[in-house]
Amino acid sequence: MKSDRSHALFARAQRLLPGGVNSPVRAFKSVGGEPFFAQRAEGPFVFDADGNRYIDYVGSWGPMIVGHNHPKVLEAVFTAARNGLSFGIPNPLEVTMAETLTRLVPSCEVVRMVNSGTEATMSALRLARGTTGRDRFVKFEGCYHGHADSFLVKAGSGALTFGVPTSPGVPKALADLTLTLPYNDFDAATRLFEDCGDTLAALIIEPVVGNANCLPPRAGYLQHLRTLCTRHGTVLIFDEVMTGFRVALGGAQARYGITPDLTTFGKVIGGGMPVGAYGGRRDLMEQIAPSGPIYQAGTLSGNPVAMAAGLAMLELIQAPGFHAELEAATQALCDGLEAAARGAGVAFSTQRVGGMFGLFFSNEKVDTFAQAMACDSATFNRFFHAMLERGVYLAPSAFEAGFISSAHDAAIIEQTIAIAHDAFHAIGST
Ligand SMILES: *Cc1c(COP(=O)(O)O)cnc(C)c1O
Repeated sequence: MKSDRSHALFARAQRLLPGGVNSPVRAFKSVGGEPFFAQRAEGPFVFDADGNRYIDYVGSWGPMIVGHNHPKVLEAVFTAARNGLSFGIPNPLEVTMAETLTRLVPSCEVVRMVNSGTEATMSALRLARGTTGRDRFVKFEGCYHGHADSFLVKAGSGALTFGVPTSPGVPKALADLTLTLPYNDFDAATRLFEDCGDTLAALIIEPVVGNANCLPPRAGYLQHLRTLCTRHGTVLIFDEVMTGFRVALGGAQARYGITPDLTTFGKVIGGGMPVGAYGGRRDLMEQIAPSGPIYQAGTLSGNPVAMAAGLAMLELIQAPGFHAELEAATQALCDGLEAAARGAGVAFSTQRVGGMFGLFFSNEKVDTFAQAMACDSATFNRFFHAMLERGVYLAPSAFEAGFISSAHDAAIIEQTIAIAHDAFHAIGST
């Protein structure tokens, strides 16, 4: 596979961008080697600067749920762009977006558009703190909620009380306010809420974890958290930046039948443009400025071109049977990969929820962060490169979920499984 152009671009990039990239995972640090540079993308494919074609299971990390460059989305973008790229004045598409969102996700009675998932989660947390008058909140090991200071925190050793910053630059004083729980552990959540539930402004969770590989919730787990939050007056925030419109049309909350107080969105909602949103109970959301005192703003929020892209995509995924087909394709892919791995004698299992999936180099079914961390990431890395060389692009880390789109038809899935068959044999015999 040729890589001269990508290699030259990466050399130039490394001189001027930290690590050669504008977001860390893209640098291939976890899997080793150098990233390729995308030139264009179409349907299930990405083409790199050297003309190589890859079947893409990253889909821009989630947004491209109808495949790359869908003509309907492009058309909507071109039409909106011709009318102006940005106004900083209310525009009609924002109203349509709010109507669409609140209809598809009924727990969101009122919404606010922002420009990224990070903005959505940091704003939702401020709202929870502002309405409860409490400073501490709880998150889960392995969940990612964007890069705001309060979320770049992990559990301190032994103590639930004090979090530890996971990045220099996060003030210790702020990290002290972030508590961390193990995902899918019922008792740990019960104990924490008994201990200090009345001091917690919010509990924020990825209802299906997609940032520590893919970990579905155990039966009754999300309901358990809902009950604890209700009992203690803690705001339940579902971070559906990844799961929203992907694990079901109405997101994880529709799939599992749980009503959170606030929800955050990103990725699919922007159709590939930089968009995020948060929404929820009217009494909470109306505390946001200018209807309430809690401040949050954005020069480009509700951008007309971004709204047009998101609306076009949300229109497409409302086609009857869209999510059932997406889920069937994910299922077929995962079943095929498991069979191929078995054939090659490689310890391997999968998880799948709607249009997202996880690949685990382990013999057991994985659904906790500790189990995910214990998987064989060296073997994943070899598999990643074996697949890439054969024209399949997986997320360049053992700890990221995979994404499928409606452009991944039966032939593409079959082709992927055949390639995986070769790749598993190649890594099994080294
Ligand atoms: C991607 C992601 C974010 C951050 O969104 P950005 O648009 O990258 O800021 C937050 N939460 C979850 C669950 C995500 O997957």
